[in-house]
Amino acid sequence: MATKVEKEKYRKIAELGCSLCRHLQLGETPAELHHIRRGNIPRAQAPVIGLCTYHHRGSNTSIHGMGRKRFEREYAITEEKLLEQTEKLIE
Ligand SMILES: [Zn+2]
Ligand SMILES: [Zn+2]
Repeated sequence: MATKVEKEKYRKIAELGCSLCRHLQLGETPAELHHIRRGNIPRAQAPVIGLCTYHHRGSNTSIHGMGRKRFEREYAITEEKLLEQTEKLIE
């Protein structure tokens, strides 16, 4: 279960909208939370970014549809960079 502090953080991240749409200057798009997997870190403790349905779950347009490598090549930005930008915005 997420703690109160985590929930507040997730809410802020979701409110920022899609991190990739923001990066691509497509404006604020409602976002879902995407967990960034790093090795064996449990999902609940993985850092989170916002991605719209299109960039989160779209078959040929998203991180889960294309896989991380293709996604990062396609949009010329890494997941970690999107995380860095997100963390900056919610400080
Ligand atoms: Zn998006
Ligand atoms: Zn995801």
